Amino acid sequence: MKIQLQNLTKKFPNRNKKVHGDVIAVDHFTFEIPDGKLIGLLGPSGCGKSTTLNLICGLEKPTEGKIFFGEKDVTNLPPEHRGVGMVFQNYALYPHLTVKQNILFPLENLKGEQKLTRAEMLERASNAAGLVQIGDLMDRKPSELSGGQQQRVAIARALVKMPHVLLLDEPLSNLDARLRLQTREEIRKIQRATQITTVFVTHDQEEAMSISDGIVVMKEGVIQQIGKPQEVYDDPVNLFVAKFLGTPPINIFHGKVHDRRLYIGESPVLPVSGVTDREVWVGIRPEGFLLQEDGPLSCSLNGVEVMGRDISIVSTHPDCENVALRSIAGSESHVDTSSDTVRFSLKPGKVFLFDKDSGERIREGCYEK
Ligand code: ADP
Ligand code: MG
Repeated sequence: MKIQLQNLTKKFPNRNKKVHGDVIAVDHFTFEIPDGKLIGLLGPSGCGKSTTLNLICGLEKPTEGKIFFGEKDVTNLPPEHRGVGMVFQNYALYPHLTVKQNILFPLENLKGEQKLTRAEMLERASNAAGLVQIGDLMDRKPSELSGGQQQRVAIARALVKMPHVLLLDEPLSNLDARLRLQTREEIRKIQRATQITTVFVTHDQEEAMSISDGIVVMKEGVIQQIGKPQEVYDDPVNLFVAKFLGTPPINIFHGKVHDRRLYIGESPVLPVSGVTDREVWVGIRPEGFLLQEDGPLSCSLNGVEVMGRDISIVSTHPDCENVALRSIAGSESHVDTSSDTVRFSLKPGKVFLFDKDSGERIREGCYEK
């Protein structure tokens, strides 16, 4: 089922008396989630991700705008009639019920036409439990489960109603690193198998990038960019998006464009065309540096970290905003660690220019009006 958000806005009254005006948690969102896809909603804490999910599932009413499931306007439909399954960060299982009773719970409250026989309920519960591989834990209580197992029960409980839409609000945040990786793969598998249109909320860019068909990057209630993870990484629209995606993070330099050349400090590092002379922020992805003995960008070498497949060259540069500049090279690369300096040339496709004031991307070939 396709989901459409049209001009969706949610304002909350401000509780902080020192600040005037409402909090705009979600600010005029317009986007479409294609049928059967998994979309990652990504942004720092407080940017409005949970509010967006609560609007989609009906726990919150929008101040403005509309929500469509397929062609149907669900903006005023109560949550129980939307056919949405929701999973929260903190599992929210009933502690006094067994796993099986927890999963059956949403089915036992179905009324009218939706009402199921006991046998149908048991079959659905057993299917949902099978999907998340907890079939052998059905008689345990939540307190007898690990965090990862509890989260699977929560996912099974959301799936058991066979929802049209699955909403996951930071479902992996309470899990340790290894379980987080494993569970995210499983969520992806279940989503592919069931083809339920899914919105996955996270503040972790790596998590969003790894499992989403598309990502929506948010900042302070405003959508910054929508696209396939790789497209957004390769072509960020502004400094915020460029900095938010990528590990190690993008390296940011003060630079200037003069006479068709990009300068970092006194060194011309790349030719650029179609950009008027001006000061710029220069963003360079860690994989955008090429080790080159007479390369134009000279940095003070701190050391080399071996990461197996790659090495990470750690250095500093007076015009670099990052505490340490990190560049990635293949493990076969040779870096003379006895030297104080390391020199690079740059890969043009991995270097982005941004406006010094607005942080908007400056694209080559676009002269300022
Ligand atoms: P996220 O999930 O991205 O961390 P939220 O959607 O929870 O962000 O919150 C977005 C903004 O809305 C925050 O500034 C938060 O303080 C505010 N907010 C959320 N819920 C309420 C509420 N019920 N009342 C007042 N302000 C709220
Ligand atoms: Mg949240």
